[in-house]
Parts: sequence; C-alpha cells; structure tokens
Amino acid sequence: MGRLFAVEIIYRGIFQKTLAKNISRGIVLAAHQAGKPGISFGRYSDSPERNGIPAKSFAIVGTDQETLERGMAKYEPKEVDITITVDDTLCKGVESWAWYGLQPVNKLLKQGGTLIVTSRETPEALISMAHRKEYPYQLCIVKGTVSFSGLWVYKDDHSDVRILGTIARILPELFTLDSLKKVIQDEWHDAVKVSSAERAYERFTSTTVRPNQGNPETPYKFDLPKWHEMGEGVAIPSIPTGKQIEDPGTHAMGGYRPDRNPTFKKFSTRTMRPVVDFDTCIKCTLCWLQCPDTCFDVTPDGLYDANMQACCGCGVCEAVCPVPNCVTMINETEFRDNSSQWEAWKKDKSGYKTWLQQKIESRPERSHGFRYRGQYKEQIPEMLEIAREG
Ligand code: SF4
Ligand code: SF4
Repeated sequence: MGRLFAVEIIYRGIFQKTLAKNISRGIVLAAHQAGKPGISFGRYSDSPERNGIPAKSFAIVGTDQETLERGMAKYEPKEVDITITVDDTLCKGVESWAWYGLQPVNKLLKQGGTLIVTSRETPEALISMAHRKEYPYQLCIVKGTVSFSGLWVYKDDHSDVRILGTIARILPELFTLDSLKKVIQDEWHDAVKVSSAERAYERFTSTTVRPNQGNPETPYKFDLPKWHEMGEGVAIPSIPTGKQIEDPGTHAMGGYRPDRNPTFKKFSTRTMRPVVDFDTCIKCTLCWLQCPDTCFDVTPDGLYDANMQACCGCGVCEAVCPVPNCVTMINETEFRDNSSQWEAWKKDKSGYKTWLQQKIESRPERSHGFRYRGQYKEQIPEMLEIAREG
C-alpha cells in the first residue's frame, strides 16, 4: 500500500467556505499534476444558519488509486498531516455541532505534523490558546488578517495561494511548488497569484510546539446518549425556566438567568465578544431585548451581563446600546476564560475599569464589521503592509 496524505481546513461557515474550498481543491489539483489521485470534500457547513460556526474541508490524496480508496473508506480522517485554520480565534478549539463538546484545533494532527494559522498574532499567543498535545508538532503562521477571500463582497487577498505555497514547502511529497504554480496559472490565470505562492514558499518559518506548551485545560465535553438510552418516538424537551443570581458581595439573590442548552456552548462560535462598562450603563434594557441569542443575564442590581456560554459575538448589543462606549466588541484572542464580567466588576470596580480600558485599547481592529464610519479606510495602509511583507 502506498502513502495517504490528509489535510484539514478549519474555517468559519459560511463566510470562509469558498476560501476553504479553493485551498482543498488546489491541494488535490496540484497533487494530480504529479499523478497522485485525490478528493476534496466539506463537512458541517451546508446551511446558512451555521454562519460563523466552525466547519471543515478535507483534502485526501493517495500515491495511487487503491491507497486513496482504502483511505476514503473512513467517514472522516482520524489523523492529518496538516491542519489549516483560516481564523486564529479557532485556535481556542472547535465546536461544530452539539455532538462532541469542544475539540482542540490540533486534535487530528499527527506527531510532527504542522498547524498552519493565518494570523497577526505571535507564535507564543497562538500556542497559549491551542490545547496541549502529547507529542510535538510544528506551528506555521501565514501572516494576515482573517480573510473572507472568495466571498463576493470581499477582494481576493491571495490567502488561498499563500497557504498552498506554504504547504508545498512543508510537504513537497504531496505536491511541489512547480506543480502548484502550474495549477494557479491554469485555474486562476493570474501571474500575481503565482508570485504570492512563491513568496509564501520562500518566507516559510515554523516553531516547534512541545508537549508541555499550550492550554493545559481539559476541553469541555459531554457524553452522547447511547441508542438504547433514547426514548421512543421524538421528544424535544423544552428548556426549563431560569433562576435568580447571587450577588457576590451581599449574597442577596435576585435578577434572572435563563436556563440554557446544557450541551451546546457557543465558545468557539464567536470571533469577538462584548465588554460592558457597568459604571456607565443606564439600564435601558436594549441589549437584553435585542440580543438574538438571549445571552444577557439580568443581575440582582438591574444590570445586564453577557453570558459567554451563549454569546455568538454578533455585535448587536454594541450597535443598539445608546450610551457611547458602554458596550465594545473585542477580538476573542484577547480572552482566556468565559467568566462573568459583572462578577468581576462587583468584586473590584476600579480593577475592572483598568481591565476594560486595557482590553479596549489592545485591539481596536475588528474581526468583522466596524466600530465607526471610516474605520476600514484607516486600516487599509496597515493591511497593505502585511500583504507586502507576506
Ligand atoms: S454579541 Fe451581544 S447581542 Fe450578539 S450574541 Fe453576544 S451578547 Fe448577544
Ligand atoms: S444597551 Fe447599554 S445602556 Fe442599555 S442596558 Fe445594555 S449596556 Fe446598559
């Protein structure tokens, strides 16, 4: 039997679906150039309501047809040579469905395999987000902002060919740079894209991630019921009503926290999260009313605390809040836990204010959308610089 190569691309459905498809298709076409058969296919992203939900594409290539067919007998690869994630916030983990809980981004990666991330973060920041593995692997950063390349409203930023050029360097047995250049020319008819792939190939660097590095937490998970534990017929249990909340200072009970889905948590759905200035909140209720995911807990003192188990990071609360700078959306890479902001504020108001200010100043740029008119224009020079530097 020959050798089987497997690459997975983790992306945000549906916005990055075309980008992921272009990468997985590019892998298979480049491998075909050297006579290796392959197939690319997607998982989890077939419905518009999965906007922002982590999804996957796979590219499977064999050195011969029989090897490919044997490999494809599996529903989904159990291990991969390369994992690509085109949104760095997914380094915290992937929860595609309410089936598994949170899967580490590097879960399927083989020993010595490579995790490719498009990001402006440092290797240290990304390593601290990804869960630990028992064996070493390589981390390669393709410098860039989160790309929606392939979406009709978004300009092509060459993320697809830059990632393909990086793969040619990491795994030349899969396909060579010459094969890739031919595919790019044939498929896209674009010499500039060819040179972007070449530049990514030449500028490749990687960092070894050791078993003692990374997030030591056990990823959130739950047990699925076995078939014999399921009830007869179809029963969809309703969500129970919520409970009151305890004030961490006075221990008085009050407010209201709705009961939420006990299995599906939205930790990995969002790329941003709201931070709330409780000192300036006027308790107008608009964020609570308008949040599409009912994620605000009403606190005993009548404030509104965005619960991170339920928040999908849409930014509606920021848009509807009438008080300037009371709610601010911040890039998810800035956070390491999902604890209550209101509880932190109650325990230490001046410490919370300092934390809030530091978070707001640390990441003025958005993962999607804009805080004010003209922000996009201001960010263009910096984005061009990133593209030039590779
Ligand atoms: S970003 Fe705001 S409105 Fe959107 S889900 Fe989170 S708390 Fe709700
Ligand atoms: S919309 Fe703003 S001011 Fe109104 S309750 Fe929510 S956080 Fe407070």
